[in-house]
Amino acid sequence: MKLRWISDVLKEMYGEKIYRLALSSGCSCPNRDGTVGVGGCTFCSEGGSGEFAAEPAPVAEQIERAKTLVRAKTDGKRFIAYFQSFTNTYGDVERLRKLYTETILRDDIVILSIGTRPDCLGDEVMEMLAELNRIKPVWVELGLQTANDATAQRVNRGYPRSVFEDAYRRLREAGISVVVHLIFGLPGESREDMLASVSYIAGLTPPPDGVKLQLLQVLAGTKLAEEYRECFAREDNASEDSRDNAPALHIMSLQEYGDLLVDALRLLPPETVVHRITGDGPKRLLLAPKWCADKKKVLNYLTKRIREELF
Ligand code: SF4
Repeated sequence: MKLRWISDVLKEMYGEKIYRLALSSGCSCPNRDGTVGVGGCTFCSEGGSGEFAAEPAPVAEQIERAKTLVRAKTDGKRFIAYFQSFTNTYGDVERLRKLYTETILRDDIVILSIGTRPDCLGDEVMEMLAELNRIKPVWVELGLQTANDATAQRVNRGYPRSVFEDAYRRLREAGISVVVHLIFGLPGESREDMLASVSYIAGLTPPPDGVKLQLLQVLAGTKLAEEYRECFAREDNASEDSRDNAPALHIMSLQEYGDLLVDALRLLPPETVVHRITGDGPKRLLLAPKWCADKKKVLNYLTKRIREELF
């Protein structure tokens, strides 16, 4: 089958490997400050789902700092400015316009990637994104996580799927690329539910430009961590494998995640580029599954399975 990886697509476009610089816009999240909800999504840690973003500072300073972090991997001169943490279209639009315009106009930035919620894409924000997209490509990354509204409520996502659908349509009509995030292993979800979310995004018209898939990671300090502790309180001394039958919060093994991932990738249309197949939560906060901590080993295992089973 024809799977397209973002690293290959970027290499074709720019003739070199293009790395992301994790930056901070200084925005918060309406699902944490009481506007939409309090406490946020149950899996979201205090870093707002982006533990590696730079500390708030003038963007030029953040970019230089972020470049030093990726220097070990590249001596490239062009990057993606990635505003990942929290909700990066939430707040004063003029401030955001100034920040993003300054960023996108830089010679070392080739793509502006903005992570946000679909309920934070009002008309003024859409105008700003369309303006920026006329300068250089803009990707909007939407954290759908699941297409199942019951699960969404359970993890306190704070909006129904219809809100995503409306935002998705408006973004695509405005010619803006959309990358959809899905999390596998959310509480109460079966394998069929997770694959149904993939089928749902695969069936969008037009299909998403990109997808980020990741396994649910239980991080310290989150509501999910409390749920995890309650769920497994009586099994403190048991191995993760022996916890597999717990009904509410199922912690997948690496092999199980590999099986699911391969089946999920089979469902994607060729137009949808794969940006990520595993999460990158901070090790210091990771409670489960522990095998996620060895990212290199996980990626090697998953890519081997994909190569063997999908090509
Ligand atoms: S919308 Fe994003 S930043 Fe806000 S609580 Fe949920 S995961 Fe965290």
